[in-house]
Amino acid sequence: MIRDILIHPDPRLKKLCEPIAQITPDIVQLAEDMLETMYDAPGVGLAAPQVGVNKRMFVMDCIKDGPPEPMVLINPEILWQSDVPHEYEEGCLSIPDIYSPITRPDAVRVAWTDLQGARCEHEFTGLWATCAQHEIDHLNGRLFIDNLGPLKRQMITRKMEKLKRERARAL
Ligand code: ZN
Repeated sequence: MIRDILIHPDPRLKKLCEPIAQITPDIVQLAEDMLETMYDAPGVGLAAPQVGVNKRMFVMDCIKDGPPEPMVLINPEILWQSDVPHEYEEGCLSIPDIYSPITRPDAVRVAWTDLQGARCEHEFTGLWATCAQHEIDHLNGRLFIDNLGPLKRQMITRKMEKLKRERARAL
């Protein structure tokens, strides 16, 4: 089922998310719904708070050509980050049509639990590294525009408020 994606500004996007203690059927369903919602959008990553669920989980698939490689990361943690900065023009499904260059470490080692409850660890590079860091920020109530200066952030927030008013009127 495709879920509604929250649009910034929304208090639910600013909260610290809670760890997932147990992988229940509800969590499995949430993961499936989040992947479906991400592919439909389309996007390369989606975090649970973006669909209004205050839990530490995100999905991603950064394959642009070729067969899909859906990943579900539960309770992800960054174990190590590279010292090499990497700039990427980031966007966010909760901030539609806004893109801005953001600098982050070009590689990160992440530990997480998968949907089968197995502990996983992997070093991500390139777009995967950018996406993993962007999504983990969501779980800590942080958006990519929080890396921008206050004026630029305020301008984007006003644009999003206007977009939300227009969408509400169109319903
Ligand atoms: Zn995002």
